[in-house]
Amino acid sequence: MIGILGLQGAYAAHGKMLDALAVESRVIKKPAQLSAVDGLIFPGGESTTLIKLMDSWDFWAPLMDFAAAGNPIFGTCAGMILLAKGVSNPPQKSLGLIDIDVERNSYGRQVDSFEGTGVWAADGQPRSLPMIFIRAPRIARLGDGVAALATCGDDVVVARQGQVLVASFHPELTSDLSIHRYFVDMVGH
Ligand code: GLN
Repeated sequence: MIGILGLQGAYAAHGKMLDALAVESRVIKKPAQLSAVDGLIFPGGESTTLIKLMDSWDFWAPLMDFAAAGNPIFGTCAGMILLAKGVSNPPQKSLGLIDIDVERNSYGRQVDSFEGTGVWAADGQPRSLPMIFIRAPRIARLGDGVAALATCGDDVVVARQGQVLVASFHPELTSDLSIHRYFVDMVGH
């Protein structure tokens, strides 16, 4: 069973992707619900709002425990910001579960969102993938132990370190299931 953190933001669309892969999912709104799942999707939204909600519901320690138990976590967009080690523009707290630094709202000042085409290189033959960026963070530094799984232009846009997977865009808003399928494999379903 894969959990989808449902505090705020684009969480419902992730459930539809998992439905399409015939994987059971459950929306997580309270820390105690984490015990019922063996993988977690951390959706996009607004990271400053997510931080406040995680404070109110005391999610920080339970999420660290969930990760320390080895459970896979997949963060998209604001979810990636919350999982990163370092955050800038402006700096803010994060879980620090993957050794990357990210810069918030880093793609274009005039255009808030855009659809691009990137290259997904994680399952054998590299191939192009549609990517939707919404006020997206940019990965500004990739630590030594972090693998780059997809790029868009010069930027790494999907990265993995151990059981933590991140994407700077919104794969759940396209019809391509590759990244969700990859995460489902990480969880071992
Ligand atoms: N700009 C948002 C933030 O900094 C992220 C946007 C998103 O998740 N689509 O938190």
